[in-house]
Amino acid sequence: MLCLGVESTAHTFGCSIVDSKGKVLSDSRDVYKAPEGSGIHPREASRHHMEVSSDILKQALKSAGVSMKDVDIVGYSAGPGLGPCLRVGAVVARTVAGFYKKPLVPVNHALGHVELGAMLTGASDPLVLLVSGGHTMTLAFSHGRWRVFGETLDITVGQLLDQFGRSLGFASPCGGRIEQLASQSQGQYLQLPYIVKGNDVSFSGLLTAAAKLALEKSHSDVCYSLQETAFAMLAEAVERALSFTEKKEMMIVGGVAANKRLVQMLEAACGRQGAKLFACPIKFAGDNGAQIAWTALQEYGATKNQVDVEESFVQQSWRLDTVDVSWRL
Ligand code: AMP
Ligand code: MG
Repeated sequence: MLCLGVESTAHTFGCSIVDSKGKVLSDSRDVYKAPEGSGIHPREASRHHMEVSSDILKQALKSAGVSMKDVDIVGYSAGPGLGPCLRVGAVVARTVAGFYKKPLVPVNHALGHVELGAMLTGASDPLVLLVSGGHTMTLAFSHGRWRVFGETLDITVGQLLDQFGRSLGFASPCGGRIEQLASQSQGQYLQLPYIVKGNDVSFSGLLTAAAKLALEKSHSDVCYSLQETAFAMLAEAVERALSFTEKKEMMIVGGVAANKRLVQMLEAACGRQGAKLFACPIKFAGDNGAQIAWTALQEYGATKNQVDVEESFVQQSWRLDTVDVSWRL
């Protein structure tokens, strides 16, 4: 069975063809770039998605060597995300599903990150750290759903990095640039607020303090200290959740999973708790159509659930822990 997956929750418009064995036949994407110093403007990002959508769809079909007639189902990212962006992906998915009479499957975007990560890494029952532009949460599977063990109380770690980077005049996404600057520091740690409450973390005070510090201190030292503080907070929450759940696997997914220092800290936490760390391959850590296609295949394969075009929806706030996941034990 072949699925076309359409992703458009935020900055990325992506289409991908995946088969039911998990082979990613194609993965085409184009990323909206905000002007330097500013964040994603939802209307501008959705305009970008509209402009690139037909080329990205054609590319995905062409590089998979298939036509729409060969595709069995269409999955789309129905939320959570930015409303105007979500609507573009939904319109593309509805149009092709309606025209070619294919089942249409709405997919929770966060579930897509988790399920594609599990398939690609081979993790079977991990504690998950989902860290991206839109999410910061620790998750574990129990009684038919991914349960949230801890999450951010305010902004996500991706927003922390991107908003801090923008305060220095960088263009979003800024995580890679901050990692590079941090690596130039001689390890000069500057004191910053460290806030962990139970298994939850809070980053907004850290953002304000780091932006203020950057006005007078070396940017590489501030980037280094920001990473050390934020990632130690995440590693603490992960280690406590590992200890509580006694999971022997830990998986990191989402765009921030590309950060080597974060992975190093999680490796240390996993080592202490006797758990094995699985990191989603960088190529698929960020937003992409393959995560949507793979999750739609799982959902449709297990339940045959689909929606009529008239009933298809997008939902800007759609929590992962409200989604039934019937294909996992
Ligand atoms: P996503 O929403 O999953 O596409 O992830 C995007 C987020 O990942 C943005 O906030 C980026 O700044 C962040 N990111 C990308 N590369 C890195 C990196 N090397 N280190 C830290 N964060 C990163
Ligand atoms: Mg994402």
